[in-house]
Amino acid sequence: MALVSFKNTILHNLVSKPKTRRAEKEYPVGTRGHVENDMDLCVLCGLCSIKCPTHAITVDKAAKTWSIMPMSCIQCRCCVDNCPKKSLSMGLRFQEPGEEKITKTFKLSEKAIAAQEALMKAAKERAAAAAAAKAAQAAQGGAAPAPAKAPAQAAPAKPAETDK
Ligand code: SF4
Ligand code: SF4
Repeated sequence: MALVSFKNTILHNLVSKPKTRRAEKEYPVGTRGHVENDMDLCVLCGLCSIKCPTHAITVDKAAKTWSIMPMSCIQCRCCVDNCPKKSLSMGLRFQEPGEEKITKTFKLSEKAIAAQEALMKAAKERAAAAAAAKAAQAAQGGAAPAPAKAPAQAAPAKPAETDK
């Protein structure tokens, strides 16, 4: 009898759907997700690090890196909402589980580094041009001529008084 029951169980399991769910690749609707940074857009301004209530984010401008401690993050979205370059977002894909409190570090992309260097170079060139123009003006005789004053308007003529 037990053998028949066992056989039935085997047959049932062979034709029925699995009772377990496949591992999902995306978080269910309504989940906040985890913080992701597009290192092509980030300018390492550090605002996300300042705004983070749990100090989960670190920005190292010298090393051109942005780091996050995922286990310290409480998914409040504060960093995402305050990022001026919109490089942060709440990713909805599952991440590798882990037991240790790791820090994930991302380096600024070559594209972002090149863009920043171009901006700094342009700013330096503008500053140098402004300084040169100022020096040339000083050499020519001091301050720039004051803008011409508008001619004073003549007072309206009074009507001639008549003796009564
Ligand atoms: S992620 Fe946004 S707020 Fe944070 S350093 Fe980069 S640009 Fe600034
Ligand atoms: S979501 Fe909140 S806790 Fe997580 S890194 Fe951003 S600011 Fe910090």
